[in-house]
Amino acid sequence: MTTEKNVHDAVPADILEALRSCGRILVTAHARPDGDAMGSCLALAWALHELGKSVCVFNEDGMPGFLSFLNAPCPVISDTDALPWEPELIAVLDCGDRTRVGEKLQPLMDRIPTLDIDHHLANPNFGSAGSWAVPSASATGELVALIVHELGVAMQGPLAEALYVAIASDTGNFSYGNTTPLALRITAQLREQGLDIAALREKLENNWSEAKLRLWGRLMNETRILEDGRLAAAFVTRAVLAETGSTREDAEGFVEQLRRLSGVRVALLLREEEKEGKASTKASLRSSGSDSVRDVAAVFGGGGHKNAAGATLAMGAEQAFEALLPQIRLIWS
Ligand code: 5GP
Ligand code: MN
Repeated sequence: MTTEKNVHDAVPADILEALRSCGRILVTAHARPDGDAMGSCLALAWALHELGKSVCVFNEDGMPGFLSFLNAPCPVISDTDALPWEPELIAVLDCGDRTRVGEKLQPLMDRIPTLDIDHHLANPNFGSAGSWAVPSASATGELVALIVHELGVAMQGPLAEALYVAIASDTGNFSYGNTTPLALRITAQLREQGLDIAALREKLENNWSEAKLRLWGRLMNETRILEDGRLAAAFVTRAVLAETGSTREDAEGFVEQLRRLSGVRVALLLREEEKEGKASTKASLRSSGSDSVRDVAAVFGGGGHKNAAGATLAMGAEQAFEALLPQIRLIWS
């Protein structure tokens, strides 16, 4: 098991060497980025920028609206055509496997050295120039903080804001069981160096549209409570989004509300979308303690962490629910 001490001591030499020696670095993370994915990218990008390197952030889905207040030292692109130069290195952050980056970057990842820096379970160490996968880290941001430290860059300004967003997002504001002493120590250091946590929280959380409020109200009303109260499932269909005037992104985080229900062991959020006439459903699963929803997600080609996992199923939401249910039931049968 990786202890906090040896995580701290162990930024692998090949990771640091690759970052130090390359001049043009592309930084990326999983598509549909959350706070950890985008915060980690921006923090690393700031550090590399401070070292005088050419840096660019790629995300297949671009910068999500809820994180648009974060500052970047470079372009954040969502198409490889927009690359200002041919990268020497691609740093892939917060991806349990390389497919999570999305399709657009795969050809580039085949021919350019990659670093895999991540905290998901069962990461296959896909980095051709180095892999650092630490499942005990609460956030990829925790690992990026250690890298920034080793690179000798101060954790201040927009870099500090990005790191805070990364770590606070994946620890549920420092409340989930994954919250490590190191995550808290890094955050203490950010605060000591002047990070305005209240201002950041204002931008991160007190920013809802009326449409989002209505969507959450509707989802709460229509949540299905099943399996003798052990399963709470909410369905974000295209009809619900249209009727409330909201977007799929507005449902981000709703699954955490379902876990609040006393007695619930699995919280499930199903988000349906249609692309080129084909329906697909993104399942977000949450659990507590030893109940592993990662095992459920893995059956459908997804993954994540023991208590927070996801998968995309190539079918509508109702069908996805029918497919998931027997696997979820295995948790209590
Ligand atoms: P969320 O439900 O918030 O999208 O994701 C929960 C956790 O599961 C995150 O750590 C996320 O990276 C991971 N995850 C979500 N969807 C997938 C997926 O399709 N594949 C894999 N490997 N992990 C996923
Ligand atoms: Mn993460």
